Amino acid sequence: MEPVPLDFLGELRRTHTCGELRASDAGKSAVLMGWVHRRRDLGGVIFIHLRDREGVTQLVFHADADPALQDKAALLSAEYVIAVAGRVALRTPETVNSAISTGEVELVAEKLWILNESRTPPFPMEENVDVKEETRLKYRYVDLRRPHMQRNVILRSKIAFAVRETLTRLGFLEIETPFMTRSTPEGARDYLVPSRVNPGTFYALPQSPQIFKQLLMVSGFDKYFQIVRCFRDEDLRADRQPEFTQIDLEMSFPQQATIFEVIEPMVQQACKVAGYHVPSTFPRLTYAEAMRSYGIDKPDLRLPPFHCVEDLFPGANLTSEGLPLVAIRIPKTGALSRKERDEIKAAGAERGLRVFDDPKRLERDFPEAMARVRTRTGAGEEDLLLLAGWAGEAKGQRPEETVLMACGQLRLLAAQKYNDRHKLLDPENFQFLWVVDFPMFEWDEEENRWNAAHHPFTSVHDQDLDLLTANPARCRAKSYDLVVNGVELGSGSIRIHRRDVQTKVFSALGFTEDEARRRFGFLLEALEYGAPPHGGIALGLDRLVMILAGERSLREVIPFPKTAKGTDLMCDAPSEVPERQLRELGISFRPR
Ligand code: ASP
Repeated sequence: MEPVPLDFLGELRRTHTCGELRASDAGKSAVLMGWVHRRRDLGGVIFIHLRDREGVTQLVFHADADPALQDKAALLSAEYVIAVAGRVALRTPETVNSAISTGEVELVAEKLWILNESRTPPFPMEENVDVKEETRLKYRYVDLRRPHMQRNVILRSKIAFAVRETLTRLGFLEIETPFMTRSTPEGARDYLVPSRVNPGTFYALPQSPQIFKQLLMVSGFDKYFQIVRCFRDEDLRADRQPEFTQIDLEMSFPQQATIFEVIEPMVQQACKVAGYHVPSTFPRLTYAEAMRSYGIDKPDLRLPPFHCVEDLFPGANLTSEGLPLVAIRIPKTGALSRKERDEIKAAGAERGLRVFDDPKRLERDFPEAMARVRTRTGAGEEDLLLLAGWAGEAKGQRPEETVLMACGQLRLLAAQKYNDRHKLLDPENFQFLWVVDFPMFEWDEEENRWNAAHHPFTSVHDQDLDLLTANPARCRAKSYDLVVNGVELGSGSIRIHRRDVQTKVFSALGFTEDEARRRFGFLLEALEYGAPPHGGIALGLDRLVMILAGERSLREVIPFPKTAKGTDLMCDAPSEVPERQLRELGISFRPR
């Protein structure tokens, strides 16, 4: 085959993007540049769909007008890069294409420059073609050209801008913090960077800018934010990435409400650029309320809450002594088959629950109590109504929570199973809420000790200071999560700003003074130099964009993501390095 003759751009300038031309431009001349999206050769005429990030315009090459131009157009294939000069013409009413923004017009080509050719792309650019994810990630630069990826990357940029704009308007300063630093307190494994100049020592990549943003408060920059990369070496699940982006902020002299008043308009603005309206304030639930009504610390408010009803069945032994009995209502499921009810019972039993799946039978045995259950839950005849109690002995540090959490899982499972009937889990219905007053500590079964539920710099509730040592299980923190549709978007807290309180918390966590000093000495010292009261939060940008883009995987909204195994298939990272580099770093490997 003859090689395609390629042209240079020279002084030629693009006048319009491919998404821009409208009926009002008819008669104007225009120069477009972009990629050949599709080509149709009808003998006398060639139609090309030319694509750039803004959209698609139809080009027409007429053979009778200019046979040489027509011959050149015949050389074009998918994904060639071209420039075209021509005149904008109205399409006839029957040929208007309402599927594209420029569908009322076409560009009648007068000149064509072939700027580059393309090998046959590894997969077609069309939206609805199913391509294996490995192939998409290997050829990510091609994949990113596909319309839905262009849309997601553009949306991400708009959301980041909305965040910057809102926070800057509210007086926040964007301040950078180091990537090469020491271990931070988020509790995952660190990524380490060996130092060549100081052999045997390592920097840690930050799991978050937590300590630095607190130090910035000590330095008097009372409103800080950053859209920042964080690094955590965790066992990867589908919705995690080893490096991810946070909208991180911190402010001095805040109340919890002050922080909410910053985040709410920021999130509202982010939703607005994605085309959604959400209210200007979000409801608040305490952790205890969330547990008692939803059995989870990130409730999905699109579904109705459940209700504790043990008070209505005194002496009936439907649940173990002193533990909750929960009435779960899933709207509009209609009657379930025997098999479906057995599945639900089995799912409950797996979680330690005793599930009463037959309200008719309960109504026979406890008519009055069941009438009150129906009033309390609002369950109608079309709804699924389950009662769930605990089958065995109380378990865990907060046993009632163990039961409520199992019921929360059962509720979600049943709701997801019958979503096609009630359709409440609409991905475009965004129900934001704040969950506040989390427990300060989480029990670590393996290590047999308390860990900080958020991080060790979180303040304890003023009334709960004595519980720090007396009853850590019941000690509440001044911490909060932002949640949407059952997903945790971010967490934050009012921090400890006094050295004496920080020491107490460290000791409740079982850190010795020495250990605390070794890990976070510089922060502890900074608290002694006039640290103001301060607090903040960090939201996952990737997750926010994923939800607003209606995607199910973070990889759809991160331009160059890692696979679930932490690898980059395009540039083949992580990779081995030359022996010389290791020698310079003084590193040799021994088998694990
Ligand atoms: N550094 C915390 C985190 O990454 C957020 C915060 O407390 O502001 O979860």
